[in-house]
Amino acid sequence: MQWSILITGGRVIDTFSGIDQVKDVAISGKTIDEIGTNLPKENADLHIDARGKIVTPGFIDLHVHNYTSRGNQPSVDSDTTNLAFGVTTALDAGTATPGEYPHYWESDIQNTKVRLYSLVRMPDPYGPTPSSVGEVQDLITSYDTLLGVKFHHSQKFSSLPLAREAADFGGGILMCEAYGAPIPQLLDWMNPGDILTHTFHAAFRFPIFDHRGQLWSKIWDAKERGVYLDIGHGARGFAFRTLEQAVAQGFKPDTISTDVHVGNIDGPVFDMPTTMSKMFTVGLSLNEIIDMSTRIPARALDQERELGSLAVGTVADVVISSIDQGEYTYMDVLHETRTSREKIVAETIVYSGNVYDGSHYDPVEMSHKHDAPPGFILTET
Ligand SMILES: [Zn+2]
Repeated sequence: MQWSILITGGRVIDTFSGIDQVKDVAISGKTIDEIGTNLPKENADLHIDARGKIVTPGFIDLHVHNYTSRGNQPSVDSDTTNLAFGVTTALDAGTATPGEYPHYWESDIQNTKVRLYSLVRMPDPYGPTPSSVGEVQDLITSYDTLLGVKFHHSQKFSSLPLAREAADFGGGILMCEAYGAPIPQLLDWMNPGDILTHTFHAAFRFPIFDHRGQLWSKIWDAKERGVYLDIGHGARGFAFRTLEQAVAQGFKPDTISTDVHVGNIDGPVFDMPTTMSKMFTVGLSLNEIIDMSTRIPARALDQERELGSLAVGTVADVVISSIDQGEYTYMDVLHETRTSREKIVAETIVYSGNVYDGSHYDPVEMSHKHDAPPGFILTET
């Protein structure tokens, strides 16, 4: 057969290639072979009818926790919680310390269907088991899945220069949490290509707004410089009111990510399409949401064409989703709700030319609730 999979009649949205129209997508082995119209079904082993649906590159989630083999930590299984919901590439945000990384790679990374990259959590240098910059640099040299360093909010701000130095090796990524330190000081340490996650958070400390309620000018500067301002929803990393206040000032996120872990997978995060769908409530368009979940995060991984597009010759990571119409209520970490008329549902997931046919995580009842930022009145829902 000419093609292994042929997806016909769907609305193809590939923001890298500038395509938003009904097209057929032909896959041969692990790669995208052709994008066209009226491609012959009989030339494919598997035909998928995508009429009425959207066809996009695989979603890329820049903030996950998938070190499940460690036990006694917050990770969730990457295939049933990420891939099953359309995430074909993910970045584990520092679940493993440098000392744990070889075990993480051996036990988890090499066994998952999701293309799993990672950052190591650079521990407090004053802690009981400090890790050195050299240790991280050795790991970055040894593992092509390791892309940099996560600076966790619980670490002393004074240790940030070490995280910076370690991440800089090989041009790696430094990911910082927006509630980890005062925003202007934190951003002073961040370079183009770095990622600020939990940008629109609901924590008490370190808001992204100054005392007048205006975004810190350094937030604007960071965007201009090429620092990625990421969602990183998590258990306290996303509040509608914070994003709304930013959007009202003309500011939008760069990338959408879940920070899905055991503390939020049963709500309010659930999964990537739910997190993406929440962006409808602040007026972002479907194309913007897809762009923030495919092309831009691929660029953050320095693989903008290969992973974030459906360009011919690139890896066949494709998601076929329905855009359900109705009245949908979404919840943030404060348990505040917003509604929108659209909901993205990832239905068929193709990863490296394979159709995912495994199980989906099934959420149970949510139990977590967090505090409002200063000056906000929490409404009961
Ligand atoms: Zn996280």
